[in-house]
Amino acid sequence: MQQNIAQIAIIGGGASGLAAAIEAKQYGGNDCHVIIIEKNARLGKKILATGNGRCNLGNIQEKQQSHYIGSCAELAAELLGKFEGSEAFFKSLGVICKADSGRLYPYSNHAASVLDALRFQVQELQIQVLTDSLANAITKESHYWKISLQNGEEILSEKVIVACGGKSAPAMGTDGNFYSVLKKMGHNITQIAPALCPVYTESSLLKGLKGIRTLAKVTLFKKTGEVVADDCGEVQFTDKALSGICVFNLAAFIVKNETYISLDLLPHLKKYEVDDLLWSLYSMRSNWSIADMLSGVFHKKMCPAIFESSGISDSMTAPVYSLTPDDMNNISETIKDWRFPIIGTAGWNNAQATSGGIHRSEITEDLESALCPGIYFSGEILDVTGECGGYNLAWAWCSGMCAARSAVDNLKGCDKND
Ligand SMILES: Cc1cc2nc3c(=O)[nH]c(=O)nc-3n(C[C@H](O)[C@H](O)[C@H](O)COP(=O)(O)OP(=O)(O)OC[C@H]3O[C@@H](n4cnc5c(N)ncnc54)[C@H](O)[C@@H]3O)c2cc1C
Repeated sequence: MQQNIAQIAIIGGGASGLAAAIEAKQYGGNDCHVIIIEKNARLGKKILATGNGRCNLGNIQEKQQSHYIGSCAELAAELLGKFEGSEAFFKSLGVICKADSGRLYPYSNHAASVLDALRFQVQELQIQVLTDSLANAITKESHYWKISLQNGEEILSEKVIVACGGKSAPAMGTDGNFYSVLKKMGHNITQIAPALCPVYTESSLLKGLKGIRTLAKVTLFKKTGEVVADDCGEVQFTDKALSGICVFNLAAFIVKNETYISLDLLPHLKKYEVDDLLWSLYSMRSNWSIADMLSGVFHKKMCPAIFESSGISDSMTAPVYSLTPDDMNNISETIKDWRFPIIGTAGWNNAQATSGGIHRSEITEDLESALCPGIYFSGEILDVTGECGGYNLAWAWCSGMCAARSAVDNLKGCDKND
């Protein structure tokens, strides 16, 4: 049986694992033997799919806690506050970034620029890479941690960084296989759920809306009427789901079908202002057909669905003057509070992130396991989820680097306060 010995072994060669490996070698020095263990045939497969192939690698607001949720959100903001920032990190690797509405992308607009920078640096630093290597157990063996691979190989390492991601996008290697290993080691995983994904609703409500995009304030409610979370942006309708970044950002909060989403289609107007607008359109377009009454405000194909949800039973070809004051009020209410009951989320295959993971109470402020000293965590395996917009990758680079520094400090027997 082949056995490798390392100072620092990193399980997972994705975003945070690659950042961790580079930092471990650069900070730990040439003598620090670093190994990356990756189950896929190549490193960083998911990075190529990020940002629709452009890789939204960070955000100018990535240090603000308000963009993160989960028990580790506060710690994430603290660590991001000390982090040089995604843009500076990539500049140090020769990648120039540009900001687009606050989102950072490589200037090349090509995710491969980001992955190449990381993997060539890994090569340059002579970091050992084991691909096609699924880690499936970690046990203590004298002063080493022993990582067992599915292919029978074993790695002995003084420190281990668990950077294996969560459960979102399983086709890219992250299928949640490592949760059971961590549970065996005594860790608890908080309830996990797909985050940053479309939200399914009743398809009858979406009739005729497929492909339409509209600006809206999107609010997630409990059945009791309590607001859970909200966001503003472009909503996209599909035949089964509400989609778009503002909807993605709410998905992590959805708990067992107990909620509905409300769209405010004119969030900059108060209800009475929407009433005024409708009555002025009523006067101007009195002889037009109902179907065309709102065509100057919303996408023409969206209007019949708004009327249907307002309980307008008249034919769409009936004249606007046939609408009653009650009809007008119902239309106004729908525009301000168009409700879509939630059936579920689009699931792990369509999720860009995982909500839940290792709880804050089980790690130190240096990302070391509080239960198994010498084991560190980085990235999506931790209970922190960023909004759409580069926040999850920012956290991946930052936490990878923090975990690596902590592991190196620990190897050298340094107290971080020295
Ligand atoms: C389609 C898509 C688009 C996205 N776009 C963006 C974006 O533009 N901006 C943004 O900020 N975020 C984006 N994200 C989220 C972001 O990619 C992740 O949050 C980030 O990659 C998490 O980094 P990580 O290192 O924790 O995990 P990952 O990058 O998922 O890497 C984990 C690695 O561990 C490996 N692994 C898993 N289990 C084992 C095991 N047992 N043994 C060995 N290896 C293992 C996996 O194969 C994988 O390579 C996107 C996600 C998806 C799915």
